[in-house]
Amino acid sequence: AVPLVVAISTAVSAKKGLLIRNRTAFENSRKITTIIFDKTGTLTKGDFGVTRVKSISDSLSDDELLAIAASVEGNSEHPIASGIIKASREKELELDEPSNFENITGKGIQADLNGKKIEIVSPGYLKEKNFDIPENAFKNDSETVVFILSDGDLLGYLALADGIREESYDAVKTLKDRGINIVMATGDNEKVAKAVSNELGLDNYYAEVLPEDKQKIIQDLQEKGEFVAMTGDGVNDAPALAQANVGIAVGSGTDVAAETADIVLVNSNPKDIANLILFGTATYNKMM
Ligand code: ADP
Ligand code: MG
Repeated sequence: AVPLVVAISTAVSAKKGLLIRNRTAFENSRKITTIIFDKTGTLTKGDFGVTRVKSISDSLSDDELLAIAASVEGNSEHPIASGIIKASREKELELDEPSNFENITGKGIQADLNGKKIEIVSPGYLKEKNFDIPENAFKNDSETVVFILSDGDLLGYLALADGIREESYDAVKTLKDRGINIVMATGDNEKVAKAVSNELGLDNYYAEVLPEDKQKIIQDLQEKGEFVAMTGDGVNDAPALAQANVGIAVGSGTDVAAETADIVLVNSNPKDIANLILFGTATYNKMM
């Protein structure tokens, strides 16, 4: 039978948008020594605005570049895509319909548009393909920068900015006070990762992380004796959520992530995770 305090606590949690799928996970929440948060949409708002558009091609205006990007991003669920589409609407740009859309896991997207293969990708992808990064692309540490390629030629880049969630400061403080090690893992570039990590006072961060690397990061920490919680939102996060001692699926995360996770956090709010740990500890202390 489920002890009454646990049953009540679980019901109260559900009301707050915290679904505990597995009671052991709730019990285990008080043993957590390291939490790995993802960045976009969890520690930050996940609400990107376009800050700069730069065509490096003589035959293409900045607006034309933005229109190409927005046309292809129409098929993506990433918060970056919403930011780019919003910017194209504000300028009332006309968009075209792409075909053969695909995600390039952890690195960007691609599709065919007007007979050209368009790729919108991370700086890491560009370096892998041995492109020179255009001057001034990384002017500001807090900007996420994506690059646009057409049939393998670099057309230019877009810079976007996202804000830190108000609640993240409090959550980090609460968790730190409990001696928990706070780590961020993001697919975003090194500069942004460092800026967010410094601003929030995190213990460590991993940048330009591919979804398949997350599981390994957790494993390494576990081998050092850490009891690891991790948040994730995507299909590709399922192996890492399963590897974690406490896997937390956040937000509008995919069904796959939610099914693998021990806990589902509807609002992606890091404060809820801090509360979960306090709550889990209090609940089990009451029973002992
Ligand atoms: P995170 O969730 O930490 O932002 P992702 O793995 O979702 O990491 O994305 C990693 C990187 O891949 C992004 O920072 C961006 O450079 C690139 N990327 C992913 N999706 C898109 C997209 N729809 N448009 C442009 N770039 C993208
Ligand atoms: Mg993501």
